[in-house]
Amino acid sequence: MIAALALLLSLLAGPAGATAVATGAEPADPPPMAGRVVVLDAGHQLGNHNFPAQINAPVPAGGFTKPCNTTGTATDGGYPEATFTWQVTRQVRARLRDLGARVVMVRTSNRQDRWGPCVDERGRAGNDIDADLKLSIHADGSYAPGARGFHVIAPTARPGWTADIAGESASLARDVRRGLVRVGLPVADYIAGGDGLDVRGDLGTLNLSDVPVVMVELGNMRDPGEARRMTSARGRATYARGLVAGVRSYLW
Ligand code: ZN
Repeated sequence: MIAALALLLSLLAGPAGATAVATGAEPADPPPMAGRVVVLDAGHQLGNHNFPAQINAPVPAGGFTKPCNTTGTATDGGYPEATFTWQVTRQVRARLRDLGARVVMVRTSNRQDRWGPCVDERGRAGNDIDADLKLSIHADGSYAPGARGFHVIAPTARPGWTADIAGESASLARDVRRGLVRVGLPVADYIAGGDGLDVRGDLGTLNLSDVPVVMVELGNMRDPGEARRMTSARGRATYARGLVAGVRSYLW
């Protein structure tokens, strides 16, 4: 009798529980970038200048060799490019993760006692996991009078190297430009063409990639106005928002 009553109660409880799940807790939509894999490459490394032998050593760069890495530039006030790219890249990572993406960082520290990675490692990053795209984040250091604004560099179509990713990378470059313009950042006025887009065949970071890739020079660190933006938390958040907007429009 007790067993029968227990069975009756469990039969009553079962459907009631299922009904509560169906009506009370709708399954959440997956985040918009779920399943996407983005590789972020923060340019240079803070300690590169402390390791001249290591960063000047030649490495493969796509049919030729280049130095492992360079020191990068800085603002006139001494704020290093390596620190700027690191801080912006971390913000981009946080925003992409919030959207559900998996993010792989090529450089994982910003320290005076570290150097690299070399450009060949940066170039190959993401190939093994078939990432959706790779962003290499830099800033420029031009002394040309009045030079300011961002530009986005895609790989030229080099047979055997980048011919397979050049088209998609150009598309990514246009979307990143659109994202940066949308948050109010100026297009570079000192790069040939004047449209904020460039293509280059001399960069190992682009040449060795098997996934769509662009290098973005977010601005000219030697321009006083851009230096003010880069050295402020609010300014760096603007760069990060623009880059994420570009990634989103490319992946949509
Ligand atoms: Zn750089």
